[in-house]
Amino acid sequence: MASVPEKTIFDNDISEQMDETSRGSIPRPVLIRLDDADMHQRYNIDRPEIILGRDMLADIAVNDTRCSRRHLRIEYANFDRFGEPPEVYAEDMGSTNGTYHNGVRMTGRVLLNDRDKILIGSTLFTFSVRDQNELQADQRLLELATLDALTGLYNRGMFNREMSKEFDRARRYKRALSLVLLDIDHFKRFNDSFGHQLGDFVLQEMGRLVRLNQRSNDVCTRYGGEEFALILPETHLDGALINAERLRVSVANNTFRQGETRCQVTISLGIASQEPGMESYEELVRIADKALYQAKALGRNCICYARGGEIHSFMPTGH
Ligand code: GH3
Ligand code: MG
Ligand code: MG
Repeated sequence: MASVPEKTIFDNDISEQMDETSRGSIPRPVLIRLDDADMHQRYNIDRPEIILGRDMLADIAVNDTRCSRRHLRIEYANFDRFGEPPEVYAEDMGSTNGTYHNGVRMTGRVLLNDRDKILIGSTLFTFSVRDQNELQADQRLLELATLDALTGLYNRGMFNREMSKEFDRARRYKRALSLVLLDIDHFKRFNDSFGHQLGDFVLQEMGRLVRLNQRSNDVCTRYGGEEFALILPETHLDGALINAERLRVSVANNTFRQGETRCQVTISLGIASQEPGMESYEELVRIADKALYQAKALGRNCICYARGGEIHSFMPTGH
């Protein structure tokens, strides 16, 4: 079996380079992917050589059937000479469909200049040289685009992006993947009784409880108003049920305190795991949503899950 690449949210996290002080404010070369569903994902060129291609183990893996497995080589020629303006080259690795540099099919090794465009298959990158201030601005923009302001969890856009990526990865490597949808019970009534401001506070606290319950690979997102979605890679249904039950109990037992006010809420949860024959991540979401709907119908503060096309209610041991 092929080895499974490490899962990261940002394949090449800008924050890593923010911590690294050794190179100070020296301009750093980056590749910015321009077609990545408004994410404009950035990849640091932080090594003497970086390979781009369809191979999942390429340094920059591009999920594009028009790309060759090893398509393009980026060479950072003066990587070890601090203080010099970066001298970076691109070279096609004999790909089937070729590489286009500023619209011209590339032959041989090409020196890259700031804002050059590179097209491999149908995937477009721009090469850029960024200083520390620009990198910090990039990071802030990335957070604004991907995080929910109230809870600090990932937003719906990131949910779709991560779900799609994890679904493809699980299918390709035959790995487990589960999805937990959760929704606060009677939250409209809560707002009506306690006010919207306390409602917002509860949502923030829910973000905290969700994060406390999270393991390193889990992706926690605010899916909608009072709905959250947890993507659990490498997790079978049984594991997802244990995780979800722990969260359900921790919410039900939590007293939310703001000033003199004390209040409690419960959540309902719907779970689905990837099964053979599922066509798309949207299908998995639809099934988890059906399970959530069923949990609401059964009286709330409980969990339902889908297995083999049917929805079941979860009874924790001891009930
Ligand atoms: P159910 O148990 O069936 O989920 O009932 P519900 O009242 O929670 O569901 P419904 O969909 O009818 O209402 C959702 C409520 O969530 C209504 C809306 O005011 C509240 N809500 C959504 N987003 C926010 C938010 O950002 N802040 C606050 N305070 N409330 C929100
Ligand atoms: Mg809802
Ligand atoms: Mg609700």
